[in-house]
Formats: sequence, C-alpha cells, structure tokens
Amino acid sequence: MAVQTEAAIRGVDAYRLAKRALEQMEQNKIWPTPLNYELWLHALSDPQGDIGRELHRLIAAGENLTDAMAEDIALQFLPRLRLTEEIRDAGDQLTRQLEAIGAAIQVAQSSTNEYGRTLEGASRELASASEQTSLRQVVEKLTVSTRRVQKENSALEARLSQSTDEVKRLRDHLEQVRRDAMTDALTNLANRKAFDEALAREVEVAAATGRPLSVALLDIDHFKRFNDTWGHQTGDQVIRYVATLIGRSSVHPRLAARYGGEEFAMMFPGEDARSMSAALDALRDEIASRSLKRRSTAEDLGIVTVSAGVATLHPGESPSAALERADKALYESKRNGRNKTTNAETSLAA
Ligand code: C2E
Repeated sequence: MAVQTEAAIRGVDAYRLAKRALEQMEQNKIWPTPLNYELWLHALSDPQGDIGRELHRLIAAGENLTDAMAEDIALQFLPRLRLTEEIRDAGDQLTRQLEAIGAAIQVAQSSTNEYGRTLEGASRELASASEQTSLRQVVEKLTVSTRRVQKENSALEARLSQSTDEVKRLRDHLEQVRRDAMTDALTNLANRKAFDEALAREVEVAAATGRPLSVALLDIDHFKRFNDTWGHQTGDQVIRYVATLIGRSSVHPRLAARYGGEEFAMMFPGEDARSMSAALDALRDEIASRSLKRRSTAEDLGIVTVSAGVATLHPGESPSAALERADKALYESKRNGRNKTTNAETSLAA
C-alpha cells in the first residue's frame, strides 16, 4: 500500500476517510466491493497519485467503474506496490537466514579451531606421556572434544538443511508473486506488462534472425452495450468467455494477453499478418458460434463478436509502432461493420 494511504488509514482521520470513501462511492454509483473500496481509499488519501488521477478521469468522463475496469487499474497500479512489499519481505527473510547461517558457521569454525588446538596439545602430551594414567587422561580429553565437535557439526548440518528449505520456500513464493504480477486476474491470460515485455524480446529476436513477427489486437464488439444492459458481472463473464477461446484457440500465438478492458493482444513469431488474418478469422468464427446465457437468469445474451487488426513488424520498427498499426487496423474492422479482421499490411494506407 502507498505510504500516504497506509498513514491515512491508520491516522486520526481514518474513520472519517472510510466514511467519505463509502459516501463518494455511493454518490458515483460504485459498488462497495473490497477492490473498489481499496482503490477509493488510495484515491482519497493520495488524489494526485496514479490511482487517484485515473479514477477522477473516469468519473469526469462519465464512465461507470466496472469490475473489469477496477481490475485493470489495480493490475496497473497496485501489484507493483504489492510486489515491492513482497519482495522486501522476502529479502528481509533471506537476510535473516543468511545471518543465521553465518553465525552457525562461525560457531563451527571456532569449535574446529579449538579442536585443532586440543589435538596439538594432545600430541605434545602423548609424546611426553610415560605412564598409563596420563595416557588415559589424554585419550579421555580427546574423546570429549571429538564428541563436542561432532555435536556442533550436526547442529550446523541441521541449521543448513533448515535454511535450504526456507530459501527454497522463499524462491517458490517469489516465483508465484512474479507470476501473479504478470497474470490478468480476471482471465488468467498474461497481462499488458507481461505482453509488452515479451514483445520487446521477440522484436529483438526478429531483428537478429530476420524471421517475421506479427501482432494482433482484438476487441469485443459492443461491449459497453453488454455491460449497460446486463450489468458488469455479465460483462466480466463475456470477457472471460472470449479469453477462454483465445486461450484454447488453434491459432497458436506465442503469447496472448488481456491488453485493456475488453481488448486482447496476441503475438505470432515466425508468422506474417497474411497467414494470421486467416487464423484470426477462424477464431472470430469460433467466438461467434455460441449464443451465451446470462448465468443468473438464463436470459439469452446473444452472440459475442470481436473485431481484430493484425500487423507484421516492419524492419527497424518499434513494438509500439507495430501495435499502433494493428490498432488502426482494428479500428478499420470496427468502421467496416465489426466482426472482421483487418490486415494492416494490405488495408491501411502507408
Ligand atoms: P465460468 O463461469 O467460471 O465457467 C467455467 C467453465 O465451467 C465453463 O467453461 C463451462 O465448462 C463450465 N460451466 C460453468 N457454468 C456452466 C453452465 O451454466 N452451463 C454449462 N454447460 N457449463 C458451465 P467455458 O464454457 O469455456 O466458459 C468459460 C467462461 O466463459 C465461463 O467461466 C464464463 O465466465 C464465460 N461463459 C461461457 N459461456 C457463458 C454463458 O453462456 N454465459 C455467461 N454469462 N458466461 C459464459
């Protein structure tokens, strides 16, 4: 949580802030879901922060904050904060483990040194020992020291094995946090950040190998109408429906992501826009092949269609420029009646 928000929700005005958040949410007809409330607290305690500015922009534009939009804002601005905290926690735990290992090694080292000194003393004593009793005393001393070193070594072993387990647990946890930060919570597809990072890498590969690379953007047609007519919960299910088919599709993108509210992005290394247009048409047909039902009332929602735009990366072109052309092609599909795929390479003026 941002420092300002953390301070505000534990400060003297905490309850007043909470009441104001709920009042404003009610005034703006925003559902009091935990996520919306969290976003609103951020907006009130830090109006100039990313979340504050984004929420005020949406409200000023007369937008209805849907669950999908809230998820988007949270994905964009909250995970980074959560991630930082989780990484800081894991870092602290790791430091503690390393300190404990260091201390255990030091104990073992000093007891090994002491054992060395005992052995040296024993060998001197043995050299000069003549009587049986003094021999016995030397052996007894050696036995006691050997036992002590053995005990300390087993304690060190146990400590090291415990720390190894703990470090493995921390590594798995960090891996999970990293995956969550790259995944869209509503659809389980990759999120925009993951897509942008992967695309930047693929653009480098394409530049180095000369292999083609194409990118596509898909947008659910008349999504706002779905949301306004059936409510945001149904809207979210429509997004999930499309995401499921993109995930299952025989069009094999290297990566598919939820790119914005009802927008998806796909990348196809090794493919050009022409071959991908045909594959995207097949995906569009699949999406439009089922009539959906509203889960709560079983009312007919009708069919869902999507519009798509696809572009092949030009030599030396940046990822964002290729995406921009795919977006223009998508807009062209919308302009030409929706439920279409437009190939930027053949349909857009240069
Ligand atoms: P979900 O609601 O989480 O459902 C996951 C899967 O459970 C569905 O995968 C389907 O195999 C099964 N399922 C859940 N509810 C029903 C049901 O009432 N009838 C039937 N026959 N199967 C059900 P699927 O079909 O691939 O859908 C993936 C997601 O797409 C769903 O997630 C939901 O969010 C959305 N979706 C798909 N079809 C519809 C629909 O007709 N209406 C609505 N509102 N959403 C749908």
